[in-house]
Amino acid sequence: MHVVALIVAAGRGTRAGEGLPKQYRPLGGRPLLARTLRAFCSHPDVANVLAVIHPDDQPHYQMCADGLSKLLPPVAGSTTRQASVHAGLEALTETAPTHVLIHDGARPFAPPKMISRVVAGLAHHDGVLPSLAVTDTLRTRIDSFAGDTVDRSILVRAQTPQGFGYNAILEAHRAHQSKTFTDDVALAQRSGIQTQLVEGSEDNFKVTMPEDFDRAERFLSSARETRSGTGFDVHRFTDGDHVTLCGVSIPHTQSLLGHSDADVGLHAITDALLGAIGAGDIGDHFPPSDPQWKGAPSRVFLEHASRLLTERGGVIANIDVTLICEAPKIGPHRDAMRGAIAEIVGIAQDRVSVKATTTEGLGFTGRGEGIAAQALVTVQVPHQADSA
Ligand code: MG
Repeated sequence: MHVVALIVAAGRGTRAGEGLPKQYRPLGGRPLLARTLRAFCSHPDVANVLAVIHPDDQPHYQMCADGLSKLLPPVAGSTTRQASVHAGLEALTETAPTHVLIHDGARPFAPPKMISRVVAGLAHHDGVLPSLAVTDTLRTRIDSFAGDTVDRSILVRAQTPQGFGYNAILEAHRAHQSKTFTDDVALAQRSGIQTQLVEGSEDNFKVTMPEDFDRAERFLSSARETRSGTGFDVHRFTDGDHVTLCGVSIPHTQSLLGHSDADVGLHAITDALLGAIGAGDIGDHFPPSDPQWKGAPSRVFLEHASRLLTERGGVIANIDVTLICEAPKIGPHRDAMRGAIAEIVGIAQDRVSVKATTTEGLGFTGRGEGIAAQALVTVQVPHQADSA
């Protein structure tokens, strides 16, 4: 079996309100579509993933695709969902998969086991539909009055990914271009493809309206656990005319000595972030003996730690750093530092705190021999079971 997932994400998503198209809006700190793509790229039964996107969205798409393997170059969609799916199918003629899973880009939480059920069904059927029973009582309505009860035992709720034999669904799309169908199963049935039902998932809901984003955020936070890490760092003063603290260059009568730019604040934050995800310390990732980090801007270290967190599906909840020195004065630079840190790790500035203290003239910081920093970083990562 050679299975390709075809992710339909070419819509403009206007029902979700103003701003970015909904599939590129952040959900738990990452674009919605990045989550959908990852669900399929990380599935062992899926060989490749092809996204159908709006041509204007290429830059947004690139951010979603970052760090994912198995992705084929995206294909430009069309004005209707059906035409977009057709464009995606035509683009796969060279790849020539045996089967395709056609999935809504706006369903970011397709569980791995459900994807497996659809693929397993394709071993015996040309069409497979994940679906759910209807549990609410259904009624017709007559204006504002309740009408008759509808027999719900003959009804299901259709979800995606809808699985098909590639050649069969491609032929069906070619044959029915002039008619509009609500989904691929409807079109497949018109071509005589029988569709087997498999169990869908309540987690596999579609994020369409603004309130769906709220539900998705609640779903994500319930699937996450909170972890914290601390970091501590010291650099001594040497001759010079500025210090770099939390990504901000500050004129001073001395500089800090270090292999990199000696940004003691970013080093403490980097160590705290690595600590929160159990990924060692800054020296493990960037050995001081390695000449390539000589004079390096310390944002490189924090960006690396931040990427490790993202790869684990995690997000930063907040960062709190304290700079310990007699001079220079930190207060005037505090907001610039918060902004710099927030930009490096890609979170809102109100999740970043920078504080400063002296040690009342005591100890090495009191004697003005160097600057110390300590940091606490709190992250949210998927529960072990969910990330497996
Ligand atoms: Mg250091």
